[in-house]
Amino acid sequence: MILAVANQKGGVGKTTTSINLGAYLTRLGRSVLVVDCDPQANATTALGIDRRRVEGRSLYEVLTGELAFEQIVLRTAIDGLDLAPSSPTLAGAEVELVEAGAFETRFRELIRPTALRWDYTLLDCPPSLGVLTANALVAADGVIVPVQCEYLALEGLAQLMRTIELVRRRANPGLRVAGLVLTMYDSRTNLSQQVAEEVRTHFPDTFQVAIPRTIRLGEAPSFGQTILEYDPASRGAAAYNALAEELVARLEGAAGGVA
Ligand code: ADP
Ligand code: MG
Repeated sequence: MILAVANQKGGVGKTTTSINLGAYLTRLGRSVLVVDCDPQANATTALGIDRRRVEGRSLYEVLTGELAFEQIVLRTAIDGLDLAPSSPTLAGAEVELVEAGAFETRFRELIRPTALRWDYTLLDCPPSLGVLTANALVAADGVIVPVQCEYLALEGLAQLMRTIELVRRRANPGLRVAGLVLTMYDSRTNLSQQVAEEVRTHFPDTFQVAIPRTIRLGEAPSFGQTILEYDPASRGAAAYNALAEELVARLEGAAGGVA
């Protein structure tokens, strides 16, 4: 199953969720591929991959047709977790994709067939509803939407939902919202609780577990590690473990699943 992790707002926890959910899905015995679709390449560095190692072997070269998708996939330090890395050059791909035409189906053609070899492929999207996110939505079976428990959290979600609906009608009828994930939740503040309540009211398919705001989750990427490696006994680790369990129950459970 291919899941886009998307929200056009920056800093809401897309990358943190992609890599840590990915890590904990491997603990449930699932094979996982994280595809870094953001030119900022945060998922790539957060998984401990040196940018120099990726030069000339990133998603950009796949989109330009120089390399096949499987040629860029790297193993990470976590058994069962692989990465298709990004690089800053990917920013240029937006322009090239538009010029090449049929630009929203490139991921579907070039990535999807290979990506289906993993139990779960997580597409870590950039913070915009541009060409790369559109490509991810067209290629995916479902969308995970991280929502930061902050003022104006709901702002932009309506636009994202309309975009998902549009993609479903025009290009990808199988696309579903797999669920919303509350991130950076601080149980001590009324604001966090209010936002969480509001999001759950508007979007009943919000996952039960809320990811807490913790220093350890914020620190781990600077060591090139997921929370599973950096501090598996932490609250943040427990939350991502719970999210992985909830996701698997939801998508693989008796009710049928996302596709
Ligand atoms: P996005 O990919 O949506 O732009 P990130 O996942 O990169 O967002 O998160 C933005 C910043 O917030 C990063 O510095 C990240 O380490 C930090 N962060 C994300 N989630 C948490 C959390 N639950 N607790 C503390 N810091 C977090
Ligand atoms: Mg990111």
